[in-house]
Amino acid sequence: MSTLDFEIALSERPTPAAERDRILADPGWGRHFTDHMVLIQYTEGKGWHDARLQPYGPIPMDPASQVLHYSQELFEGLKAYRQADGTIATFRPFSNAARMNRSAARMAMPSIPEQLFVDALELLVRTDQDWVPSTEGYSLYLRPFMFATTRALGVNQPADEYLFVVIASPSGNYYARGIRPVSVWLSQDYTRAAPGGTGEAKTGGNYAASFAGQAQAVENGCDQVVWLDAVERRWVEEVGSMNLVFVYGSGAEARLLTPALTGTMLPGITRDSMLKLAPDLGVPVEEGRISVDQWESGCASGEISEVFGCGTAAVISPVGHVKGPDREFTIGDGEPGEISMRLREELIGIQYGTRPDPYGWVH
Ligand code: PMP
Repeated sequence: MSTLDFEIALSERPTPAAERDRILADPGWGRHFTDHMVLIQYTEGKGWHDARLQPYGPIPMDPASQVLHYSQELFEGLKAYRQADGTIATFRPFSNAARMNRSAARMAMPSIPEQLFVDALELLVRTDQDWVPSTEGYSLYLRPFMFATTRALGVNQPADEYLFVVIASPSGNYYARGIRPVSVWLSQDYTRAAPGGTGEAKTGGNYAASFAGQAQAVENGCDQVVWLDAVERRWVEEVGSMNLVFVYGSGAEARLLTPALTGTMLPGITRDSMLKLAPDLGVPVEEGRISVDQWESGCASGEISEVFGCGTAAVISPVGHVKGPDREFTIGDGEPGEISMRLREELIGIQYGTRPDPYGWVH
């Protein structure tokens, strides 16, 4: 049951099928958008109202909208996958809804009923179902987001009006030319999140603050930036927009360590899935902490055999090489590791419906 009735206004000029097929053959990432979007308004005292599906396009905005000045904004990211039998499934959408509401609490924004969040996704995916690619490894990326629309420059209080929007973008295979381990830069000059800050909220400002660190990683010849804790600049937190997982040992002796969620990291849904999946595959997982020194010495001794980032976009992204202002080292032989690849295959199998889903993740 939907919590609101959606008004439906279909596009009178949808993308012609031939043009859509051309896009789906090579969608890239975040460059193309489907024909429709979903919008739901929020007004303090009235709650969520005026839910609608309409043609994708610009959203008129008052220049004094609070989001443009004080960044009251949140977003989420998940994918719809074409299943082996041709149907379409999303992966753990209620987990994204719950995370959006946790982010909302931190940003003094309204929570959205989880069912309404999922109804909005379902409506958009059903309407634009022809945009869900059938090519192996491709998917339809869904981007729900919410921002403050109140026209007011007062900085003492949160807005009282918001817009929740869902857009969708076909996405190609992250590793179109085979899986290639990434090199990472240990950021000393910049941090991503401080205790008590907004690091665990999926809010735009965290990403705006990360661009300078990412640019520095590229200047130093690396693909992505590793964020260290803001207090001691010693404990490893995240890589780019992925959570980090360390593999100790190998074969039947392998075990995983991932930084515990201390409030400064984004609680990734892929990370959470790994925590449940790996033990069932015989690979125990521990949530703890690891310093840069321990990372380097673990690689030198061979105790750490693989390291990977995990997130919705790339699923699992092996880390091959680590560089910082005063150190540089390689993980294992710098190639994708056996455990990383096995976990990747298992998770992708569940997402695309080629493996059973004992967890009830597929929706
Ligand atoms: N960390 C950050 C900073 C992120 O932006 C993301 C992507 N949402 C992740 C981790 C991974 O989260 P998820 O597995 O839910 O995609």
